Parts: sequence; C-alpha cells; structure tokens
Amino acid sequence: MILTRSAPMAAHTETKSSEGRNKYAMNGTGSSPAQWGRAWKVDWFSLASVIFLLLFAPFIVYYFIMACSQYNCSLTMPATELFMGKADLLDIWNKTPPLTWKAATIYTSWVIFQVVLFMLPDVCHKLIPCFRGGVQEGADTPAGIVLNYEINGLQAWLITHVLWFANAYHFHWFSPTIIFDNWIPLLWCANILGYSVSIFVMIKAYCFPSNAEDCKFTGNFFYNFMMGIEFNPRLGKWFDFKLFFNGRPGIVAWTLINLSYAAKQQELYGQVTNSMILLNVLQALYVVDFFWNEAWYLKTIDISHDHFGWYLGWGDCVWLPYLYTLQGLYLVYHPVQLAIGNAVGILLLGLVGYYIFRMTNYQKDLFRRTDGNCKIWGKKPKYIECSYMSADGTKHYSKLLTSGFWGVARHFNYTGDLMGSMAYCLCCGFEHILPYFYIIYMTILLVHRCIRDEHRCSGKYGKDWKQYTDVVPYRLLPGFF
Ligand code: NDP
Repeated sequence: MILTRSAPMAAHTETKSSEGRNKYAMNGTGSSPAQWGRAWKVDWFSLASVIFLLLFAPFIVYYFIMACSQYNCSLTMPATELFMGKADLLDIWNKTPPLTWKAATIYTSWVIFQVVLFMLPDVCHKLIPCFRGGVQEGADTPAGIVLNYEINGLQAWLITHVLWFANAYHFHWFSPTIIFDNWIPLLWCANILGYSVSIFVMIKAYCFPSNAEDCKFTGNFFYNFMMGIEFNPRLGKWFDFKLFFNGRPGIVAWTLINLSYAAKQQELYGQVTNSMILLNVLQALYVVDFFWNEAWYLKTIDISHDHFGWYLGWGDCVWLPYLYTLQGLYLVYHPVQLAIGNAVGILLLGLVGYYIFRMTNYQKDLFRRTDGNCKIWGKKPKYIECSYMSADGTKHYSKLLTSGFWGVARHFNYTGDLMGSMAYCLCCGFEHILPYFYIIYMTILLVHRCIRDEHRCSGKYGKDWKQYTDVVPYRLLPGFF
C-alpha cells in the first residue's frame, strides 16, 4: 500500500531557502558564483572519460562477475583464453546465464517493494528519539531551493531484513541463496532498470523537469546523459530519484546479498567461514550507519552537488550492488578461514577505519548544524569564516572547520573509509587480486572525488579556501598527500 502524505507535510515540501538566506544574505560583492555539481562546459578529457565509462563500465561488471562464476575468480583466465585462442568471445558469451522470468519476477518484486517502503512515512524517529528521521531539509540547490525529504531508510532496511530472517528461519517462502543462485540473470534486470531510469530522467529533464532553474545543459549529449541534467528529479512531491536510487535498492540490497553469500557457503560447505562472518559484520556496520545517518547524507556531495544521470542511476543499480559485494562472492568460491590473530587485526582495522569515517562526518555535520556552537574534541571549534555567491548574485556566509579530524586532513573521512575498504578486502586472503578491486576502485574514486570537490570549493570560496588549505595543508594523509 502506498500511503499518501498528510497535508501539513506536503505543505512545506519545497521552499525557497528564505530563512537561511535572509539570515546570511546580502548583496554580492564580487566573489565568483558558487559551482554546483558537474561542469557547464565539457573539455576533451571529461568527454573521453565519459565515453570510456559508457562503453566499458558495463563490460567491467560483466567481466568480474563472469570471472568469478565461470573462471574460479581468476581475472586473467578469461583474457588469457581469448589471447591464446583457446576461446573466443562467443564461447564466453555462451557460458553466460541468460535473463530468466524468475529473475525478472524477483527483481521487479524487489524494486516495487522498495518503492513502497520508500513512500511510507517514517516511524523510527518516533520510537527512537535520537534518530533524525521523518521530514528533513536538504541543502540549498543552485537556484536557492531547499527540498524536503522523508528520511525512512532505516525503517526500510529493518523491515526488509526482518522479513528476510523471518523467511529464512520460519516461513521458507524462498531459499536464502536466491540472490546468489540468480546472480547473473539478475544482472540483466539491474542493467535494464539502470538504463531505463537514466533514459527516463534525460527525457524528463527536457520535457517536464522538476525544477527547470536547477538543470544544467552542456550541449553534449553523452556528457548530459552520463552526468545528468536535472539536479533533483522527482515524481510528485516525494519520489526523489536521487535519494531512492542512491540508498535503495542498491544499499538495502548490499547486506542481503552478503547474507545470501553466507547462506550459499553454508549450503556448499556445511559451515560459514569466519572471514564471511567478519565481512558481513563490517559491511553491515557501514550500511546501517548509512541509514542511521541518512539525514546527514542529504548534505553530502551526492545529494547536494551531483546531478542525476547514468553515473548515479546505472551506477546505483548495477555498479554498486555487483562490485561492492565482490568479496562475499569470492568467498563463496574460495572459502577462507582466517587465523584468529589475522581476523582480530582485520576487525580492528575495519573498526578504527569506521570510527574515523563516522567521527569525521559527525564533526562536520554537528559543526554545520549548530553553526559552530558546539564542542569538537571537548573544545570550542576552530574555523575559518568564508563567503560565496549563489547563481542569483546573493552573497552567503559559511564556515570551514579546522579542528578535530578536519584539522588533521581536509578529507580524513575518506581516509577512514579507505581503511574500512581495505579491511573488507583482507578478509579474502591473498590468493587472488579480484577481491582487491574494491580498495583499488575506492582509492581512485575518493582521490578523484577529493580533487573534484576541492576544485569546486576553491571556485566557491576563493581566497577563503586558500586560507583553509594553508591551515590544513594535506588532503588524506598528513605528511603524504
Ligand atoms: P564530504 O562529506 O567530505 O563533503 C565535502 C563538502 O563538505 C565540501 O564540498 C564542502 O561543502 C564541505 N566542507 C569541506 N571542508 C569543510 C570543512 N573544513 N568544514 C566544513 N565543511 C567542509 O564529502 P562526500 O559527500 O564526498 O562524502 C561523505 C562520506 O561518504 C565520506 O565519508 C565518504 O568517504 C563517503 N563516500 C562513500 C562512497 C562509497 O561509494 N562508499 C562514495 C562517496 C562518498 P560546502 O560547499 O557545503 O562547503
């Protein structure tokens, strides 16, 4: 059942950020207008990267999953067979399980179920007072609009997982290995959804944008398709494409996929290895953290700066659920029983990484929410006053935190994230490179993201950003980068 929103909630769905603005705004005095999201103009390097990703990203996913399911997780074997003439592309394609009605039914039911959960009002924040759920404000958009979001990801995750365990231990409607057993047929479904949503939002941006003032057109079709035109495409007042596709179905599915891998290990080997348990625990911590802090997520780059196109639409449907879960898939084919010392070491690395990641994000969120009226590491925060202009020429004031983890490095949250990512990979031992894809990918992603973000911040804050980088000179690791 899809519940409609009550009138009071709907009434303040979308407002010009007048309160925040009036508090800080005055006429602009010449600093450059703030940059949001992707570029207005496309340079050759960006265009080449976009075309490369559009052409090859789907094959990268296909290659990794096929390498695992048909070549015992060897990344080199399929390529070697091709180069040595032992197999041709058609042989590999013939080994690929096709799209099935069963997979289509599972996937369609899954997405519809997540849409229904997404549209439900949040109850968790009423039951757990310290949880920031229910209706929450997003960040200022370039056009100066503040959207409201129903934060109910934790509720959706809990309901989904309670049902999963109820099925596994009581109802037995389907096997808990169902995801693993249909993994490649489901890949076709995920691709169909990923491409459909990307094409739909592109057409929508031209024909019926949710907010025309927040659209960006570059004149280059491929760049527009990949990086998105609309900033916050919505259907109705509440179905927000970015929040839905970023968080569900991909991230809710992440922990279910891992559980399905653990169930498969149990079925195949009569036990679940400690590495699989460790991986399930560490990644579940990351996923639950994401939903517990979904209100904070509204202020991250994904929601407050990126436009919604293939990069997010297809990426959330295909790239995330298939490549972020590679370690679990690997452990089904190569069960690893870790020595206790190694398991404890990996657990500690994962937990310390998580602590740094969480506390860094928390410190910025607290600092920005309270406008600096808080304590960071028990002391009044240190910060740099900064200003920027929005597209309409209004000058705004903000602050850049320089104490706590934000005084250690400019993106220490990424460093914590990378430590956690490394811990996931280490669960798989050292026999194959495939499970290490995640740390390699995350390093590239976060370093690129860091540079991209800093380029934007530098344009946004000008000399104030320079002052900030003088006070906090390193990006990820003090003394190194
Ligand atoms: P951040 O949360 O670090 O946000 C960057 C923004 O914060 C900047 O654009 C700027 O925005 C503001 N800012 C920068 N420096 C300061 C400061 N000193 N004080 C106050 N505000 C500051 O980046 P992300 O949104 O990329 O990441 C959020 C988390 O998500 C990270 O922990 C990251 O590791 C994780 N992540 C995980 C991914 C995954 O695939 N697993 C992918 C991407 C991110 P403003 O314009 O408001 O000043």
